[in-house]
This record gives sequence, structure tokens and C-alpha cells, in this order.
Amino acid sequence: MSVTMQNYIDEAEKALLHTYNRYQVVFEKGEGVYLYDMDGKRYLDFVSGIAVFALGYHHKEYNDALKEQIDKIIHTSNYYYNLPAIEAAKKLKEISGMDRVFFTNSGAEAVEGAVKTARKYAYLKDGTTDHEIIAMNHSFHGRTMGALSVTGNPHYREAFEPMIGNIRFADLNDFDSVMAQVTDKTCAVIFETVQGEGGIYPASEEFMKQVRRLCDERDILLILDEIQCGMGRTGHMFAWQKYGIKPDVMTTAKALGCGVPVGAFLMTEKVGAHSLVAGDHGTTYGGNPLACAAICKVVELFEKEHVLDNVRTVGEYLGTRLEGLMAEFDCIKARRGVGLMQGLAFDRPVGDIITKAMEKGLVLINAGTDIIRFVPPLVISKENVDDMITILRECVREACI
Ligand SMILES: *Cc1c(COP(=O)(O)O)cnc(C)c1O
Repeated sequence: MSVTMQNYIDEAEKALLHTYNRYQVVFEKGEGVYLYDMDGKRYLDFVSGIAVFALGYHHKEYNDALKEQIDKIIHTSNYYYNLPAIEAAKKLKEISGMDRVFFTNSGAEAVEGAVKTARKYAYLKDGTTDHEIIAMNHSFHGRTMGALSVTGNPHYREAFEPMIGNIRFADLNDFDSVMAQVTDKTCAVIFETVQGEGGIYPASEEFMKQVRRLCDERDILLILDEIQCGMGRTGHMFAWQKYGIKPDVMTTAKALGCGVPVGAFLMTEKVGAHSLVAGDHGTTYGGNPLACAAICKVVELFEKEHVLDNVRTVGEYLGTRLEGLMAEFDCIKARRGVGLMQGLAFDRPVGDIITKAMEKGLVLINAGTDIIRFVPPLVISKENVDDMITILRECVREACI
């Protein structure tokens, strides 16, 4: 590493709060599916800023759209209408089949909004305030207090107790465990259609349908967190769309703006008409013209560049290649996931493998200690997958044999 890059890293460690153990690299620019550090070293990127930069870096049409919007107006306020927000909301309704949109600045805030929506919906029904939400073990919904409260990882929550009250935990894909938590006070069930941080676990179709039926029977809201698995990552615009069901409320963020910080929670007309009203919820930045111009262009480019087709084709290929790698090494225990959201579970911590890969010019990320997660830009090619596998194989060989 150059002295200059090392100096920047030292400066960063003096100034930034130590909430991340960062890899020893300063990324300076990107081009397509490659990142470049300050020293000009090139890296194949299989992380895309954690499932964010779906279209690849330095996408001319996307960048131009943002520049154009910057020159018009970057921010007004939610007290006024703005054209990009109107257009972005219309597009989001189209691709999701939901009816009402609230824009946020992040995923966690989208989850906050979804939780508030569920509580208000239940409050309007019976006038009481002690409603319960069922969330899943091993889930991840964000770091703010509300989102943390429904995050099924005690380690993340412990030091920050007490959480918001009346959250009960069940297991994904175990309907009986959900039923065991249902009471007269249950107002929502929340889970990720594909658990991301928890280790890449997709919800089974059976579980999805059982929970949907339960929610219909008892007028409980089904909230699906699509922040990581949505926006095309599984080969569907939103992962739940392949299950033949529909949530009452859903969240999105990450790839929604492809790098501009933005999220949203969406709901059906029924929920929209019986939950949050003027004064109940708000945000200064949420859905500002710049963020919404990004959303508009992202959705447009998804269609124009047939991103979903690419995810399906290359995603299947990635699955085959990962299975192949698993067959070669005993230390790889399982492959999970779908499309361009997949994981390899190892019998040991994967930190060393990821560090080795970085040295060899491949960016990977873990999900938990033992799982390598593959969430590349959605525009990667089969050749990129081959290149990734070649480097990963070397790293696994060095680590496991
Ligand atoms: C990343 C993530 C969040 C939190 O999003 P932020 O933008 O980091 O607040 C919530 N839910 C899921 C499933 C995520 O992957």
C-alpha cells in the first residue's frame, strides 16, 4: 500500500467513530463492476456497496440524470410538491403493485415507518395502544431504535435496551413458531423475504402463504422488508412477487437510488386509508428531488437494460459455479440464496478468505462470521462470475487446505 493511502487511513482512524472494522483500502472511483483504490489498483466488486450499486459504477445516463437535477433543484420540502417525487412514486407503484408511497432517507427509516403504520392501523381499530409485532430470529432491519427492536440479533440490541415494547420473535420458515406468538394484540408480522445479514435465508413459499393466510384471517398486517432482496436482486423486481402473495406494507432502500441515500415504505390502499395521516409522520429530506430523480432513472434503466433478465441468467450461473466450488472443498458447507443474492456457508470464520480476496483484487463481504455473501452489481456478466470464482478458489484453497 502507498504511504499516501496509509496516511488517509490513519487520518480516518483518528476522526471517525470506531463503529466499523474497515478493510485497509480507500476506494477512489468505480467503472462498471470494478472499483479502483487510491493507488490505481483494480478490484472486481461482488458487494456493490452492500447490494446498492445495481447498475454498476460511472453509469453515464444515471450520472447525467443526477447532474441535470442538481442544476434544477436539489431540495425543497415535503410541504410542497416536486416533479421527481411524483414521477418516482408513480414508478414505484407500477413496479410493486402497491398503492401508497412514503419516501425515507434510509432503510432503517423505512422500517420505522412500517412499524408506525402497523401500530396506527391497529390503534384506529380498537383504540388501544399495546399492540404486538412478531419479528424473526436472525433478522436484520436496521440500527435505529424501532428497527433494532424488530431485529432478531440479541447481540445488536443488548447494550441499548430497553427496546420498543411488545415485540415477539419467531423463526423464519417455521409457521408453528409464528402461531405460538400470535395473540389478540398482534398487529403485524415483519420479515425479510430473503434474510440478508442473517445469512441469506429465503422464505419458503409455504411459509409465505401460511403467514399471508394468518394475516388475512386476523387482520394482521404483513410487512415484508425488501431493502436488500428487493429492486431486482432475486430476479424479480421485489422478491415477494414470485410467491403469488402480496404484503400489506413493504420497505425498500439500498438499490432503490443506486447510491443516493433513499428508501421508502409502501402500502396497499386499505392500509393507507386507515393508518398514518397528516401530523403522524414526516421527514425533512425524505423523497427530495435529487433522491427521487435517482429513483426515476434507476427504474427506467432497469427496464431499458433488461436488468431482471440478466439477474436471472447470471444468477443461475453464479449458483452453478458456487455449487461447483462447494463440491471441491470440504470447508464449504452450503450454498443458499437466489439470483444475485447468494451465500456460501463455511465451517469456519470467513474473515481471512475475504481479506485474501481483497489482496487479490476481489471485493467480497460476509453475512455473519461463517458466510460469504455475493451481492454484486446486477449488471455483472458470466465472465465476471468466472473471474470471481478463479480468485475465490485460490483464497479458499489457501485458507482451507
Ligand atoms: C440494510 C438493511 C436495512 C437497513 O438499511 P439502512 O439503509 O442501513 O438503514 C434494513 N433491512 C434490511 C433487510 C437491510 O438489508
